[in-house]
Amino acid sequence: MKITGNMINYYFVCSRKLWLFSQGLQYEEENENVQLGKLLDTSSYKGKRKQVMLDGIINIDFLEKWEILHEVKKSRAIEPAAIWQLRYYLYYLQKKDIPVKKGYLDYPKLKERIEVTLSQDDIMELEEILQHVQEIIVQSQSPEIVKKKICSKCAYYEYCFI
Ligand code: SF4
Repeated sequence: MKITGNMINYYFVCSRKLWLFSQGLQYEEENENVQLGKLLDTSSYKGKRKQVMLDGIINIDFLEKWEILHEVKKSRAIEPAAIWQLRYYLYYLQKKDIPVKKGYLDYPKLKERIEVTLSQDDIMELEEILQHVQEIIVQSQSPEIVKKKICSKCAYYEYCFI
């Protein structure tokens, strides 16, 4: 199975969310938080946008001068997940010999930006992460519910708790 950027993100949020998403149970379109993110995404950075879609894996918000990736987020609540998602895009493009230098996580609501690069150590860690993601998505049963703060905003909240 292809490992998408969303899957890398969800790996850091919750194994169960990753597994549910990988099984095709995808509520994200209906989730209010996701819709807010999309609204923010489409209303920010007008005129600069060149969205990148590649192999169903890369779905980056925009590419600047064909060398810097930008991923637009509405809050820093799950920043490690967003950082690794962006590192995965850098890694994937590097593997395809597409010379992208770095990425930025943009928070237009907060007027902040975080630079994301990919070191050799990151590559080694990412390859372990990919292995773990693979192990989770091939499981025949969903991982257990582990209640956390993020659950109340998760698209799968009703599935897990109601
Ligand atoms: S509601 Fe909580 S336990 Fe369920 S998938 Fe979402 S984050 Fe995971």
